Amino acid sequence: MDTPKTADIVIVGGGVMGASAAYHLAKRGIKNIVLLEKEEFFGTGATGRCAGGVRYQFSTEINVRLSMESLPMLECFRDETGQDVDYRHCGYLLVATNDVDAATFRHNVQMQNRLGVQTEFLSGEEVRLRLPLMRFEDALAGTFNQKDGLVDPNSVVAGYVSAAQKLGGKALTRAEVTGIRVRGDAVEAVETAQGVIQTRTVLNAAGPWAGLIGEMAGVPIPIVPVRRQMFTTNTLKEIPDDFPFVIDFAQSLYFHREGDGLLIGMSNQNEKPGFDQSVDEDFEMENFEAALARLPLLERCSRASHWAGLYEVTPDAHPIFGGSHVKGFTICAGFSGHGFMHGPVAGKLMAEYILDGTFSTVDVSMLDLARFAEERSIKEYNVV
Ligand SMILES: Cc1cc2nc3c(=O)[nH]c(=O)nc-3n(C[C@H](O)[C@H](O)[C@H](O)COP(=O)(O)OP(=O)(O)OC[C@H]3O[C@@H](n4cnc5c(N)ncnc54)[C@H](O)[C@@H]3O)c2cc1C
Repeated sequence: MDTPKTADIVIVGGGVMGASAAYHLAKRGIKNIVLLEKEEFFGTGATGRCAGGVRYQFSTEINVRLSMESLPMLECFRDETGQDVDYRHCGYLLVATNDVDAATFRHNVQMQNRLGVQTEFLSGEEVRLRLPLMRFEDALAGTFNQKDGLVDPNSVVAGYVSAAQKLGGKALTRAEVTGIRVRGDAVEAVETAQGVIQTRTVLNAAGPWAGLIGEMAGVPIPIVPVRRQMFTTNTLKEIPDDFPFVIDFAQSLYFHREGDGLLIGMSNQNEKPGFDQSVDEDFEMENFEAALARLPLLERCSRASHWAGLYEVTPDAHPIFGGSHVKGFTICAGFSGHGFMHGPVAGKLMAEYILDGTFSTVDVSMLDLARFAEERSIKEYNVV
């Protein structure tokens, strides 16, 4: 498809945010939308490399509210777009092994319950009973929500892109944005290697690369890329079908079923920001040893695959929604490692912002870019 000469809205980045925004804008009747993705396929950035976890369990009300809108959208994704996304309600089981985390978990569960989310608080003994294959002698508490689970990220992106196209939107791959032209205080055009697109509205949905797109428009955006990696195992017959998404919170170590084996990851707290997406084999060994200590049957497993991707980290671990000092330059990025699950509602919210000038589904106006300069940040505790 040729690069169009004009567009009502240009979306930069074909991950879950860009795809969802394209669909929701097209659904609202905007036809002249162009979604630009630099890679050969949509969804090969953070979205395609993510663990696919979806959860209600957060520490801030705004993140719980985003989940309360977004997860039901994933539940009825097939009815909406025709695409199956394989939502599995395995539940998330977060385990606390120190007093501070246990107390914070109790507080988080009370807040979630108050908002209508049925997360259970568990004692250390209850954690051990639910995870008989694992060694959690030091568990002090846990939290569990059966409605948390796993969804296939590639299907979500593919579903939104093709639904947007059916509604008249254009979606281009191998279309790298190389510049944003600003005249006076407003967006004028988007430059790509294939040509220039005149437009008054740009949505920066470039995930870990969103800071670079901001620089092109003269808008500083505090999002840094940080590498995260994981590996999968071959078949482990002992793992039951209903094995939950287990998070050893203090170690940022997690396990969930993947096919007939497990997917295992751990966040390297010493990782320096950067765009490197190669697997750090030394850290993978640390990850494996930590996992083995929790799940001794891993002694018999071998690695099936491994990969790394980039978290898109903001100073307060919350996303950035809305506009900037450059008229027409909008942002939906910086979900700090838990954005896949909020992609559906985030795209809907950006359609509301761009078309109506306000967020109606969830009030995310406090998650604007200006909050960092104005010291209005709020910190999310449940970052893995
Ligand atoms: C290892 C790992 C595990 C994760 N696990 C989970 C999880 O379990 N649950 C969860 O909810 N979230 C998880 N996340 C976070 C989640 O993946 C992200 O928050 C989410 O996918 C961000 O989506 P996005 O569309 O903003 O970014 P991306 O998916 O990265 O999309 C941005 C796109 O922009 C494109 N782009 C960049 N620059 C340009 C340019 N100049 N021109 C054109 N295109 C450009 C990129 O190629 C990319 O495709 C995980 C992330 C990682 C790395």
